[in-house]
Amino acid sequence: MKKEKRNKKLKILIGIFSVILIICCVLLFIEIFSKASPIKGKYSKEVITVLDNNNLLDKANKLDYSPTLEIMIKDDYFNKKHFDDYYLVDYHEYEGFSKHVSQLLEKEYEPEKINYLMSNQTKELINKIITLDKFEIDYLKIKDFDLDKLARYKEFNSYVLSFEEIVKAVNHDIDIKKDEVPYDSANFYINIKPAIDPHSDITLVNKAYVLDKSFVPNDLVNFESKSISKRVVEPLKEMFEYAKEAGYHLCTISSYRSYNTQTSLFYGYIKRDGRAHAERYSAKPGHSEHQLGLATDLCTTNGKRITVDSPVYPWLENNAHKFGFIIRFPKGKTGITGYNFEPWHVRYIGKEHATKVKELDITYDEYYEIFLKER
Ligand SMILES: [Zn+2]
Repeated sequence: MKKEKRNKKLKILIGIFSVILIICCVLLFIEIFSKASPIKGKYSKEVITVLDNNNLLDKANKLDYSPTLEIMIKDDYFNKKHFDDYYLVDYHEYEGFSKHVSQLLEKEYEPEKINYLMSNQTKELINKIITLDKFEIDYLKIKDFDLDKLARYKEFNSYVLSFEEIVKAVNHDIDIKKDEVPYDSANFYINIKPAIDPHSDITLVNKAYVLDKSFVPNDLVNFESKSISKRVVEPLKEMFEYAKEAGYHLCTISSYRSYNTQTSLFYGYIKRDGRAHAERYSAKPGHSEHQLGLATDLCTTNGKRITVDSPVYPWLENNAHKFGFIIRFPKGKTGITGYNFEPWHVRYIGKEHATKVKELDITYDEYYEIFLKER
């Protein structure tokens, strides 16, 4: 009786143990099975069939679930050659996503670029991009980039300007040849503002930007018996040397001028030629770049100011930028600069900017407003 009872207990125990063992085995089997084929639980039957037909089922099994892959197959945009790309393109939920992905991949946009587009641009813009030949999506990161002007940006050939600068230039219509702006005195000496950072090489001083009466450059030195900013001396010497090698003589006639000197000059000219005439070649006190110490009037062999007929002038026009100088008041730009053409007056702004001003063929007044003011 006692033995029978013990056997019964043992049987129950074995029974319970067996049930637990079976449950464990089933769980283990499910676990192993699901690891071996995650795809069955994640992708639809239709997707699995397409993957299988393309011999991609094993590959897909080894990879994580991709909602992009799924939608590409479901929407019938699947292309075997882009299988790996689908895994790299982030899924975005919007009508037409799969079509966009397909079109962009066909145009050979890298998945990383597609991701940038999808997360930062509107659907309308993507529609527009798709109609164009592949172009650098990085362009879209440029401030004020305008897709409608892409052809003009591309046509703007430049070895000097960055693409970002080309965008700025084209946005300001610098690529379009414009008619000469007629000079009108009413356009000048209005909205006068103080010159920004007057000790810098790039300070703009013109009929709109004025220097304080007390402003004196803090690095004036003597060069050819005239005061000039120390920053200009080496570039000037270098330019004079190169000119000499090319067979030309260059010298300086007038460099730094104080506010007071400019005052007596300007009012002297008014007395002599009348205000309307004088204002086209002489600056009101505070409005002369000579006060910056960065401008100089150049002379040549005869000791007189360079004229457009001086043999050195074409050389100067083609080479000044290499030393950081620009012809500050060019021919045909009186309506913009407010001054007659002055072949003798050069302004130092440094090689980089001088080269760009030359390349763009614009005045420093324009260049400053477009490229430097917002820095
Ligand atoms: Zn001058």
